[in-house]
Amino acid sequence: MTATLIDGKAFAAGLRTRIGTAVAALKTQGITPGLAVVLVGEDPASEVYIRSKGRMTREVGMNSFEHRLPADTPQADLLALIDRLNADPAVNGILVQLPLPRHMDEAAVINAIDPAKDVDGFHILNVGRLATGQKAMVPCTPLGCLMLLRDQLGSLSGKNALVIGRSNIVGKPMAQLLLRDSATVTVAHSRTANLRDLCRQADIVVAAVGRARFVQGDWIKPGAVVIDVGINRTDDGLVGDVDFVSASQFAGAITPVPGGVGPMTIACLLANTLTATARANGLPDPQ
Ligand code: NDP
Repeated sequence: MTATLIDGKAFAAGLRTRIGTAVAALKTQGITPGLAVVLVGEDPASEVYIRSKGRMTREVGMNSFEHRLPADTPQADLLALIDRLNADPAVNGILVQLPLPRHMDEAAVINAIDPAKDVDGFHILNVGRLATGQKAMVPCTPLGCLMLLRDQLGSLSGKNALVIGRSNIVGKPMAQLLLRDSATVTVAHSRTANLRDLCRQADIVVAAVGRARFVQGDWIKPGAVVIDVGINRTDDGLVGDVDFVSASQFAGAITPVPGGVGPMTIACLLANTLTATARANGLPDPQ
């Protein structure tokens, strides 16, 4: 069996086009969504992300505001900037690029963002709302994975889903989203016993481990849908957390790396900014 390739790049491009159309419609009502991105320090990977976020934000017709602060910025100054962005009506979404320098308390910084503008969905209120089935801002990477899964499978109800990884930014919110869609969810992590056996039972595998080619092809249940969140730099270039070549022999459908989940993350950031703008203006959530 050879798996269907899930083209996240094309899906994300389609999503951005739909967002662009919705932004154009908002502009006729005098509303221009604005996304503020804050980068503290000079992490090269974050620089790359920020540049492409800014470009794509402008491409869909939104305003992009970039704030770069030196690595030794006192936390109080960052919190003061967040306060100003919270109060600025031109800013609908605020993203503080992680990781932050060590002298900062990441949770305190994230929880200082107005939850209504928390387009990363990391604020404790949004985490709680997602967990309790209330209207929330949902973290971008898992939201992108969910869109790809729904596109492949239609309903996820009753499917056995295995999430490998329990981070706050990917694994845990992914599990919540799958649960919300009535999948039967197992969350695996570094202490999990019999990961291979759990994987063999899964109709859906979402790998967010951070280890190159960790999930082996013969762990995959024939026909399963495999979503590879991993981005690992190796001598052979970027690879995922799934051994793509062997997994493609078993999976029904699989995301490539690059070109799978990665492009969905930024598209979902724009989708969240659009949603935040609609809510701020008393409009219904965009579809
Ligand atoms: P973290 O390092 O925060 O979490 C990794 C998780 O994997 C942990 O829960 C860890 O378990 C688990 N794990 C580690 N080793 C094993 C093992 N041997 N068996 C089972 N589980 C294991 O990573 P993130 O969640 O932030 O990211 C995961 C991957 O996704 C990375 O490659 C990252 O680069 C990528 N990523 C991609 C994004 C995109 O846009 N495509 C966005 C965000 C991340 P434990 O908790 O026990 O330590």
